[in-house]
This record gives sequence, C-alpha cells and structure tokens, in this order.
Amino acid sequence: KLLLDKLLRYQPASLPPVPPRNRIRPSALDLKRALRLNQIKPFYQPKVALQQGEVVGFEALARWCDPLKGIVPPGEFIDLVSEYGLLKELTLAMLDCVLADMNAWNSLDLFPSVSLNISVNQLEDPSFANHIIRNVKNANINPTKILLEITESALMKDQAVALGNIGRLKLNGFGFSIDDYGTGFSSMQQLSHIAFSELKIDRSFVCRVSESEHLCNIVQSSLDMGQRLGLTTVAEGVETVEELQLLRAMGCDEIQGFLFSAPMPASDVLPWLNDNGARIANLCRC
Ligand code: C2E
Ligand code: MG
Ligand code: MG
Ligand code: MG
Repeated sequence: KLLLDKLLRYQPASLPPVPPRNRIRPSALDLKRALRLNQIKPFYQPKVALQQGEVVGFEALARWCDPLKGIVPPGEFIDLVSEYGLLKELTLAMLDCVLADMNAWNSLDLFPSVSLNISVNQLEDPSFANHIIRNVKNANINPTKILLEITESALMKDQAVALGNIGRLKLNGFGFSIDDYGTGFSSMQQLSHIAFSELKIDRSFVCRVSESEHLCNIVQSSLDMGQRLGLTTVAEGVETVEELQLLRAMGCDEIQGFLFSAPMPASDVLPWLNDNGARIANLCRC
C-alpha cells in the first residue's frame, strides 16, 4: 500500500508547476468589488544602490489580497483591469495606499523614494496628471519622492495629451522611469520623447546575463546608453551574487531582485530595513 501511495504521488521534476488554485477569470464586477474593498494593495520591493550599498527606494507592486484566493499576483489580473477599463481606479488606489504607507513610515525626507507602475495608455487621459498631483499634494508628500515607471504595452495613440501629462507631472517634481527596457515597445522611441530619470533593464536580460556573452553585450550597451543620457540605470530581477558582481562591473547603478528581497507587505518594510542593512552593505561589497 505504501509503495502504491508513493507511486500515485510521484511527480517527475519536469512537470510544469501546479496552476494557481482558482483559474476562474475574474469578472469586471469582481475587480470593481476588490478595488472598492481595498483588496488590491502595494507590496514593496527594495531597490539598492551598488556604490553606497544602501536601499534607495522601493517599487510598489500590486497584489490582490482576496480572503478566499489568497495573494493574487498582478500577472493574473492587470490585463483584465486594463480590459475592463479600470486602470485609472487601480492606479489611484495604489497611489493612495503608497501615500498612506509613506506617511506611516513617517520620515518624509529621509525615506527612500517609491516607484509606481503606470501603463502608457493612462497618460492619454487628459485629467491623469491633475489627479495624481492633487492626491500627492493632499497627502503632504513631496512629489520628488515618487517615480512613475512607464511600461509601454501598446503604441501611444495620443502623444500630445500624453506629453502634456508628463510635462505637468515633471514640473511638479515627479520622476519618470522607463520600465522593462528592451522589450515590447519600451524602446528608444520613448527615450527620444520623454525626459526620463531612470532606465530599468528588463529581467529577461538580467536573468541570463551570466550565461551568454551576447546578452552581456546587450546589457552593457543599454547601461552605457543610459549613462550617456544621464539616467540612473537599474537592473531588475537580480537573484544571484554572480549577477550582482557582473552588473556592478558593468557600471550598473542600482539593483532590484530576489537576492535582496521579494516584494513584501507595507508592514514588513521598516522591520526589514532594520534587519537587513548590514547584509545588503556586505552583498554590495563582496
Ligand atoms: P515590473 O514593473 O517589471 O515589476 C518587476 C516584476 O519582477 C515584479 O513582478 C517582481 O516581483 C518581479 N521580480 C523582481 N525581482 C525578481 C527576481 O529576482 N526574480 C523573479 N523571478 N522575479 C522578480 P510582479 O509583482 O508579479 O509584477 C509583474 C508586472 O505587473 C510588473 O512588472 C508591472 O508591469 C505590472 N504591475 C505590477 N503592479 C502594477 C500596478 O500597480 N500598475 C500597473 N499598471 N502595472 C503593475
Ligand atoms: Mg516596474
Ligand atoms: Mg520592470
Ligand atoms: Mg519586467
């Protein structure tokens, strides 16, 4: 019986990962309800400056905290949010949580910056900048502490409106980051129009950088270009010390990835910072 039991449970290592428990596609109502009940909130992943060996910021990444399904990652709902026309609600919900968290962390000037993800299509809404500026002002947060990470998942239709929004946000002190650089539409096309302050190299390049000289060259040229344009360069998805060392040698400014931490709930941020300062400084020196 024991043997039979074992055989029935046997899973070869090559089987694909077990799919998430609940594969039912959430409806627009499900997502609206989740937003209304504040179930979609930011988890925070640290961004570390290699020279200083210090945390210089956190990226806010959306998580749907559902009492039944548990913590649902954005890969399972962001596209639907967009399809249902709820991206603006999501961004404002995320922003409000980020502002409340920043105020709870309570050291307005000392605390590192927070990055928020926005999709480029949202910039085509003429009222976008005003909403963001108003909410940040009302929360008494300095806009220079906020970086907007732009992923271009589709071509911009109304560039004039988008550039107007960006201009207003920049005038108010917000920073812009080009996310997932090297993939899809996140490209030189964008760089030529928008005054970014940061360039994030996509994880798909970073995770294979130690395997291939070819990829190494691609990453190196992206870093060089970023530097020439005066941008802070960030590599996302760094998981190993080897990758850190390579990227540091290549002149990358900042690093984000599971090597330091996976995204964590807001309540873990301060304790995590207290417990990990020395480990991070050591990792950056090694
Ligand atoms: P992104 O902005 O490029 O975020 C980086 C993703 O890489 C995150 O996935 C993060 O958890 C993951 N990551 C970071 N370090 C590592 C690592 O070392 N190893 C691995 N395997 N993964 C790592 P996440 O949180 O699942 O987010 C996926 C994407 O969903 C984000 O990619 C972003 O495009 C989108 N997203 C997340 N939150 C929001 C949001 O509030 N609004 C919008 N519009 N999009 C969002
Ligand atoms: Mg991002
Ligand atoms: Mg990214
Ligand atoms: Mg990415």
